[in-house]
Amino acid sequence: MGKLDGYKVDLKGMSSDTVSYRWQADNDFFSAVQGPEIKHGLLDVALRVKQTSGAYELDFQLKGEVEVACDRCLEPMSQPIDAQSTLKVVMGDDFADDGEVVTIPEKDGTINVAWNIYEFAALQIPLRHVHDECELPPSNSPEEERTEAFHREGLDGAESATDPRWDELKKIVKNSK
Ligand SMILES: [Zn+2]
Repeated sequence: MGKLDGYKVDLKGMSSDTVSYRWQADNDFFSAVQGPEIKHGLLDVALRVKQTSGAYELDFQLKGEVEVACDRCLEPMSQPIDAQSTLKVVMGDDFADDGEVVTIPEKDGTINVAWNIYEFAALQIPLRHVHDECELPPSNSPEEERTEAFHREGLDGAESATDPRWDELKKIVKNSK
């Protein structure tokens, strides 16, 4: 049995119109999912599956925290997660995911939501995530300032008039033709 088999949701065999699931997505979950942003975490995941005419509405509730790398120092930092997301699933011939509706093969009738849970959590991570203490305004080291000054001068130099010696050379080349 794979580590993520427990995240399989049987839609075809639903015993009633609404079925609830509960998981605890821990470090084992995140290491099994192998997502790029989150390697550790502890999330309470609640799922309510509602069967409507021809479709299934999967309402996820995620609560807990995950660990992500600080943008600035790359050390781990905790990111609280408190999110609700919905996934719409329909039955079809082949698996498909158009970003809004997931189609699962009717003959199988199940969907493994491990990756969906991971994605919902990853979506909660702000684009820029840094420790509070890493949030201080950047203080340019003398090294950086020199480099910046160099770039400014380099740019100005390129805009200034051409080297007079170069103009002389061009004249010579022109006359020799
Ligand atoms: Zn940091």
